[in-house]
Amino acid sequence: MKGGTRMTGVCKFCGQTSVIDAPEGTSQERAAELATMQCNCKDALNYQRRISSEKQAEDYVEQWSSEKTERMDALKAIIRAISHRELKKATVKFGNITITISDSNGEIKIKKTYTDSEEDTF
Ligand SMILES: [Zn+2]
Repeated sequence: MKGGTRMTGVCKFCGQTSVIDAPEGTSQERAAELATMQCNCKDALNYQRRISSEKQAEDYVEQWSSEKTERMDALKAIIRAISHRELKKATVKFGNITITISDSNGEIKIKKTYTDSEEDTF
């Protein structure tokens, strides 16, 4: 790969080293991340699943709007906090939409509920 380099990364969980192709100037920390992403130990596999779940959840909320908004940033912050187990569940309300994001056995669950009640005042 052009401008790439071959380096060794150490899995964050089991300490196994793997050879990775990384861009020039990749930090050891990033190399460890890449090595963990390709390790097959149980903890690394759980970690990979968590990261993939986080990524999919982020992609999902991005589809709601083409614009980058504070609302989207807030949802992504919640997704990350849940993925990193800092939060178990969060419910946010935007207008008539209620979004509940929770941890479901290590996967991120997003529930969107519309409350369509009609009320008119004349
Ligand atoms: Zn490992």
